[in-house]
Amino acid sequence: MTRDVLILESTLTCPYCGYAKQEVMPTDACQFYYECTRCKALLRPRPGDCCVFCSFGTVKCPPVQAQSGCCG
Ligand SMILES: [Zn+2]
Repeated sequence: MTRDVLILESTLTCPYCGYAKQEVMPTDACQFYYECTRCKALLRPRPGDCCVFCSFGTVKCPPVQAQSGCCG
């Protein structure tokens, strides 16, 4: 069985000011907090999401992509 190729780059879009920035996701952990570079708002995941990348990014976080679950 071949390993799934994980996408590690995601573009986070700030829900407050709309600023989008490409970030590299860590493969071994979830990022719960993210501070917007432009408006300095502290983003947190929406209910049901495990990390800011799942809520505001273009790509789900690596643990979710690998379907190994997240934040466990
Ligand atoms: Zn912002």
